Amino acid sequence: TEEMMLQSEKLSLVGQLAAGIAHEIRNPLTAIKGFLQLMKSEKNENSQYLEIVFSELNRMEIILSELLMLAKPQQSMFKKENIHNALTEVILLLETEAHLNNVLIEKHLYSECEHVYCDQNQLKQVFINLIKNAIEAMPKGGVISITTKTESDGVTIIIEDNGEGIPEEILKKIGQPFVTTKEKGTGLGLMITYKIIENHQGTIEVKSEKEKGTIFTIKLPFEMNEEKEEKKSS
Ligand code: ADP
Ligand code: MG
Repeated sequence: TEEMMLQSEKLSLVGQLAAGIAHEIRNPLTAIKGFLQLMKSEKNENSQYLEIVFSELNRMEIILSELLMLAKPQQSMFKKENIHNALTEVILLLETEAHLNNVLIEKHLYSECEHVYCDQNQLKQVFINLIKNAIEAMPKGGVISITTKTESDGVTIIIEDNGEGIPEEILKKIGQPFVTTKEKGTGLGLMITYKIIENHQGTIEVKSEKEKGTIFTIKLPFEMNEEKEEKKSS
């Protein structure tokens, strides 16, 4: 656990740094985009290069907005909330995308006391990140199974897919920034996910087997330890 502590401290530092850098980069990026748009509207023979420049700019914007997410947990809104609402909304949001990829999302929402102290928007972000990854791990289709259970001190949420599995070298570095196997990936989704769960004083574990699938298990406590919370904000 000492190692875990160290990692979480590193993450919050990275988060602050990331947000700062993202803000600094965003302004010049907006200016560049504006001038490029002007150049594009004038007729010239370099339009195919401009296309590449635009698509790379868009990629930078996506990375920046994901980095800015890291700053959000500091201004979070914690309330007693029903996690089934957040899960159901996210599933609804991603069902079309899943369908297009021949992926079926199965819900097993069993917990009776599903109210936990949480920031609903942040939790939605976690579910979106995990379910999207699961869809992307099953290019030939498959099943995502989402299960909730009640324990004595909190709720367990299990998100399971039968996709390609996480490569071992990625598994070792999971939760670190810019770890990705995808051509268009940012490698920030899981880092943000881990950060948010940590902010909820919860835990997240992953089990994965090549060609078999991946299981993410999240545990969220019913009550948060205020002492820890105070320490975080000071
Ligand atoms: P990104 O999706 O942008 O690559 P993430 O942080 O969301 O970044 O994920 C990091 C990497 O972890 C992915 O590139 C992928 O290799 C691996 N991964 C995450 N979730 C899964 C999953 N459910 N199945 C297989 N691999 C996964
Ligand atoms: Mg992702």
